[in-house]
This record gives sequence, C-alpha cells and structure tokens, in this order.
Amino acid sequence: MTIDVLVIGGGNAALCAALMAAEAGARVTLLEAAPRAWRGGNSSHTRNLRCMHDAPQDVLVEAYPEEEFWQDLLKVTGGQTNEALARLTIRASSNCRDWMRRHGVHFQPPLSGALHVARTNAFFMGGGKALVNAYYRSAERLGVQIRYESPVDRLEIDQGRFVAAWSQGERIEASTCVLAAGGFESNLTWMREAWGQNERGEWPADNFLIRGTRYNQGTLLRHMLDDHGADRIGDPTQAHMVAIDARAPLYDGGICTRIDCVSLGVVVNQQGKRFYDEGEDFWPKRYAIWGRLVAMQPGQTGYSIIDAKSVGRFMPPVFPGVKAQSMDELAVAIGIDPPTLVSTIQNFNAACGVGTFDHTSLDDCHTEGLTPAKTHWARPIDTPPYYA
Ligand SMILES: Cc1cc2nc3c(=O)[nH]c(=O)nc-3n(C[C@H](O)[C@H](O)[C@H](O)COP(=O)(O)OP(=O)(O)OC[C@H]3O[C@@H](n4cnc5c(N)ncnc54)[C@H](O)[C@@H]3O)c2cc1C
Repeated sequence: MTIDVLVIGGGNAALCAALMAAEAGARVTLLEAAPRAWRGGNSSHTRNLRCMHDAPQDVLVEAYPEEEFWQDLLKVTGGQTNEALARLTIRASSNCRDWMRRHGVHFQPPLSGALHVARTNAFFMGGGKALVNAYYRSAERLGVQIRYESPVDRLEIDQGRFVAAWSQGERIEASTCVLAAGGFESNLTWMREAWGQNERGEWPADNFLIRGTRYNQGTLLRHMLDDHGADRIGDPTQAHMVAIDARAPLYDGGICTRIDCVSLGVVVNQQGKRFYDEGEDFWPKRYAIWGRLVAMQPGQTGYSIIDAKSVGRFMPPVFPGVKAQSMDELAVAIGIDPPTLVSTIQNFNAACGVGTFDHTSLDDCHTEGLTPAKTHWARPIDTPPYYA
C-alpha cells in the first residue's frame, strides 16, 4: 500500500498528526517503538491539559487569560521560551478540546487532592492512558495502520525531501513523514553526557529516575542532528524535572511518585540545610523546577519535612514517608546529622512570622530574616509526628 503520511512515534503528538492527516483523507501509517501494552510514550502518563480561557468552560472555573498563561510560562522557564510558538499553543489550548472530544476524550474536574488547578487545567477522565487509548481507537476507525514494536533508527532524505524510514532492517517508503518520537529523556547515557560532572565530582544524571516511558531514547533526534544537519537549539540540561520519590522505579513510575508536600514544609539536603524557597508560588506552578533543584544538591537527594498539621492537605505519596515523634529521631531515620537538622528546623520555626495560613491563596505566612526565605505557607514545624 502506498503511504501518504508516515508518522513516527506513538504519543500525543504522533496521534494528533495521524488523526488530522487521516481526517484530511491521507493514507497514514504510524510506527510506535513500544509494544501495544506500553504504547503512548509519556503522553500515557499525563493527566491534564493547561487551557487558556476568558470565561468558565465546562470543567474549567473562572478565567485563565492568555497573558497570565504567558507570564506563567516565562516564570517557569526563566524567560527561555519562544514567544511566537508559545502564544500559538496558548491560543490553541482555548478551543482544541472540542476536537479532542470528537476523538473520544472525556474531561472531568480535578479531584480534591489536586490543589489550585480547577481554573487552569482540564483533566482527562481516566488519565493519559485513557487519552491515548481513545486516540488509538479513533485512529483505527479512520483506517490508520498502526505498527507496534517498530522503532525507527534512521531516515533516507534526498535533497531535503523525505524518502524512506528504516525500522529493524525494513525500508518503509512514504510521500511525507512526521517525526514525533519524543525527546531523549529516557537515555541516561545522553543525559550523563549533557549534565557532565559537577564541582563535587559527581555525575548527577547517574542518580536520575525517569518517571516516564523508557522508549524515548532520542535515536532519531541524534540521527537528525548528527547525520542530517538538524538545528540544535536550547540547553539539553533544561527540562520539566520533578522531585520524585527516590524509591521509585527507574522508568514509568508515573505521577504517583511525585513528592507533593514541598510547599507545606521545608526541604533539606543530605547536609540538613535548606536550599530554596519552598513557598515561592502555588505548587502546580512550581513542582517542575524541584527536580532540577534537587539534582544540584549533594547526592541528588532532598528530604521534604512536614509535621502532623500538613497531613491530608496534599496528594498522598505512593510510598509512605518516614515518621518519627521527634526531629532527632527523624534525622537518625533518614541519615542526616541530628544537631544540624534540629538547628535548621529551629531556625526556620523562629523565623516564621504570625500570619493567617491559607494553602488555597498566596497567604501572608512568610519567614523573616532567613536565607533562603519561605515566602508563603511558612508555619513552624512543631507538631509531632514529623514526616520526611
Ligand atoms: C509522569 C508524567 C506526567 C506528565 N503529566 C503531564 C500533564 O498532566 N500534562 C501535560 O501537558 N504534560 C504532562 N507531561 C508531559 C507530557 O507527557 C509530554 O510533554 C508529552 O507527552 C509529549 O508528547 P509527545 O507525543 O511529543 O511524546 P511521547 O508521548 O513521549 O511520545 C513519544 C513516542 O515516540 C515513540 N518513540 C520513541 N522513539 C521512537 C523511535 N525511534 N521510533 C518509533 N517510535 C519511537 C515512543 O514509544 C512514544 O510512543 C507529563 C510527563 C510525564 C513523564
């Protein structure tokens, strides 16, 4: 069969490309590296879509205007973003959900554990797995040929035009090709190369855990960069990096491995010292920087410390926290020098001003005279049991 559009990859980007090409009448084949059970890449781990809207929309409350979305993006990337592409995406997020619904995706309001996101994020009913399953079903209905366990390792390109893709020795010709095979986030060797060695002689990437798919090895990215002169942009160490439980598996731990109590307590490194403002902004706007912050610490490890007052106010972790009746005992249990941890917590407690704690707003509970400051939700950690 002649292929009009060959889509390489099997996640959200690939499926949307395949669906739109098939809707336009093209004969489409999709090549997914993973077996069927693991199809969908990182997209199968997602749970929501951040959406711009000027007025309430079904599951979205209030408004989340373009400018606020853009400012949020600027903050989280430290200004390193492409405004034209960002605004295109932001605007499309306000009306793409009708198309998604036509392909079988359902939305639901957030569960109570997910704070502050009812305004900004539309949740997929059944999560990302249901999202990609709906798209695969729709693709099959539209006649898209889907081939699993078909990793592509190289492309034939002649004078700038796609000719064929090679998958495990097989040559697959098509008129056009869409590369949507993810990044290189599963490739620890590449990550090690990009992150290099730090001033302590550590190779930080050796301690990374990949909470997403294992199939995004960046094979095609490397091939396009090295063999076809693709432009290299950005910084390979920059990423959406989340602080996850160090006990999580190397791959595919998913969302439930995320540490979600950071803004309710303090975070210390292995030396028992704080290193960043835990209350800088609402957690959904900040969790994506905490993986990197922890990666800069000795041993690439941090400990989020809370007391009994915070239990029940965040999405509970999949692994239970270490629990103790005193800070000394907690320090011993997590292997931190007890006097250092006790002094860090005492200094923090003493710096907490009196305010009205409100985890649903940027409240006035902040520290005074402490470095780094905690600018919101700063309450003394003084009510046992304590957890790390
Ligand atoms: C745990 C987790 C939770 C997340 N939650 C959210 C969220 O709630 N909302 C949000 O917006 N974003 C979220 N993200 C980010 C989001 O997953 C990604 O931005 C998005 O999935 C990228 O889509 P993609 O199609 O480009 O890549 P992917 O979905 O990763 O798809 C890449 C595909 O390419 C395939 N592939 C790789 N190499 C080859 C090859 N050589 N040949 C053929 N196929 C290949 C893979 O098997 C995979 O199917 C989350 C990420 C993770 C890891």
